[in-house]
Amino acid sequence: MNTFQELGLNEDLLHAITDLGFETPSDVQEKAIPILLEKESDLVALAQTGTGKTAAFGFPMLQKIDVNSRTTQGLILSPTRELCLQITNEMKLYGKYCKGLNVVAIYGGASITEQAREVKRGAQIIVATPGRMKDMISRRLVDISKIEYSVLDEADEMLNMGFYEDITDILSHTPEEKSTWLFSATMPKEVATIAKKFMHSPVEITVGNKNESTDSVSHEYFLVNSRDRYQALKRLADANPDIFSVIFCRTKRDTQKVAERLIDDGYSAGSLHGDLSQNQRDLVMKSFRNKQIQMLVATDVAARGIDVDDITHVINYQLPDEIETYTHRSGRTGRAGKTGVSMVIVSKSEVRKIKSIERIIKKSFERKEIPDGMEICEVQLMSLANKIHNTEVNHEIDKYLSSINELFEDTSKDELIKKFFSVEFTRFFNYYQKAKDLNAVDARGGDDEGRSYGKSSNDTRYFINVGRKDGFDWMKLKDFLKEVLNLGKDDVFKVDVKESFSFFNTEKVNEAKVLGFFNDFKHNGRFINVEVSEDKGRGRNRGGRSGGRGRDGGKRRRNDRSRTEGRSGSRGGSGNRSERRSRSRKLSETNTTQRSPRRSNSESKKEFSASDRPRRSRRK
Ligand code: ADP
Ligand code: MG
Repeated sequence: MNTFQELGLNEDLLHAITDLGFETPSDVQEKAIPILLEKESDLVALAQTGTGKTAAFGFPMLQKIDVNSRTTQGLILSPTRELCLQITNEMKLYGKYCKGLNVVAIYGGASITEQAREVKRGAQIIVATPGRMKDMISRRLVDISKIEYSVLDEADEMLNMGFYEDITDILSHTPEEKSTWLFSATMPKEVATIAKKFMHSPVEITVGNKNESTDSVSHEYFLVNSRDRYQALKRLADANPDIFSVIFCRTKRDTQKVAERLIDDGYSAGSLHGDLSQNQRDLVMKSFRNKQIQMLVATDVAARGIDVDDITHVINYQLPDEIETYTHRSGRTGRAGKTGVSMVIVSKSEVRKIKSIERIIKKSFERKEIPDGMEICEVQLMSLANKIHNTEVNHEIDKYLSSINELFEDTSKDELIKKFFSVEFTRFFNYYQKAKDLNAVDARGGDDEGRSYGKSSNDTRYFINVGRKDGFDWMKLKDFLKEVLNLGKDDVFKVDVKESFSFFNTEKVNEAKVLGFFNDFKHNGRFINVEVSEDKGRGRNRGGRSGGRGRDGGKRRRNDRSRTEGRSGSRGGSGNRSERRSRSRKLSETNTTQRSPRRSNSESKKEFSASDRPRRSRRK
């Protein structure tokens, strides 16, 4: 692998690269940069989102232009305002030591005169959306007759959005003998046509999709009845309290509808689609970047190119019409060295599409089960316990402590903990105790590949008190467990990593070994606690989640459940349910009957914002 230095970049750029913390060039950078620096040729580069295309054209362009001249020499066209601003920003960072450099962004929805003024001050590089660019040309507010380098970024998307005419028009104002560099994730006919029309024997490079070739994204699907789609979405969110996700719908209408329902149900959600004003879109994106929005419901076009690095989950609420689009969606997660999950909610009629997608992404999907209510309760409870455990005490409360202490004078610590947790737990419990199994039965007899947990009655599911904040993702945790426990490749499975804790399964025969080992094991100076999880973990045979909840020697013991019931078997018998009910009564005095386990509050209903903070304050 080459270093940036070996690619032939100059000192100013290398200096900026060091500042940015880029260590090695990405594939597309390694291939494109030397070609663009050495030759004056046209280029067609096919690479997925997130592969570092901006720098692949940005560095060569910055090196080749003359910063001492005020003439506009480089033009970068990109489909959306978001991307346009992102690219401008990156270019400024890359060129921060190029003295005299001026990069100007031109896009709709902002003052055209202000943009014209900036251009007039001397912009060597213009980054533009096609619509506004065309507008500025026709008003003679820009001069691109001396352009030497033009870039068509996300060309497939620009054409998708109907910018063909605008692009043609814009390029007709540029000199014939310039270089044109086209970057695209896919190569549909329209892109090939553009390449043919505007380029002269371009060099072609293709790099594998980062997300395909690495394991940074895992793909899962959930089979549900169409009418349960929304409920399924909520469960996926509830089972992942720290979710930070993009949820894709097919149409603007569905996008809006799903977002509104989520907000109504108390989730921090927002929608992003073409019917929103530019201002609304900016606001949503800002809230999303700030993580005030945990679930961004978006259309494909609106979400294209969103460069947010920490997205934990992509949820395909509906599959896209064009299955090729799936790669763009899943590429929103698993970026910047992190791992992510791309989930698909499918109905029976769509399930065959999964196979076609597998062929395209060259990876297989894992069929998973929509978590049942009790699993969600457990996840939420443990998440809360961990949050509390990690909370720093705010001493502002000291002055109220004496009255609080007085109130709890006769309450034991044990009792207090129970009460405290019940406040939160009961909410989820009440909501979920009657929740039905949302998993549709596959007419063809379910999945036939891979291990599906719950299928076998021989699994044990464990809770472990390490998670993402300890630097684990599912692969790392799996490797870690295999290593310390000296288990084989497939002996640890269903590893689900949450923020501060995780779950995993082993065969039941390994249970004693696992519990024995972690009885007294320190990692990085800290005891690691592993317990058998109450929840067997989205098992298909979820019958008989009965009894056995008591603590025993500090270890939660899973009851040896019979799993002979068929998949259609309801969760737990009636005895089970009434037991749960009485427990709930015991657990809590708070009687909250709610539509949704989340606390929907009036603030969150108003707008697309409302994070988890305000939500916590409500009491019905
Ligand atoms: P693309 O245009 O292919 O979707 P971007 O150019 O937006 O990708 O880059 C994605 C992210 O990766 C950006 O945050 C960028 O700063 C970062 N990045 C680009 N090149 C490198 C590199 N060589 N090393 C580390 N990070 C990089
Ligand atoms: Mg890009």
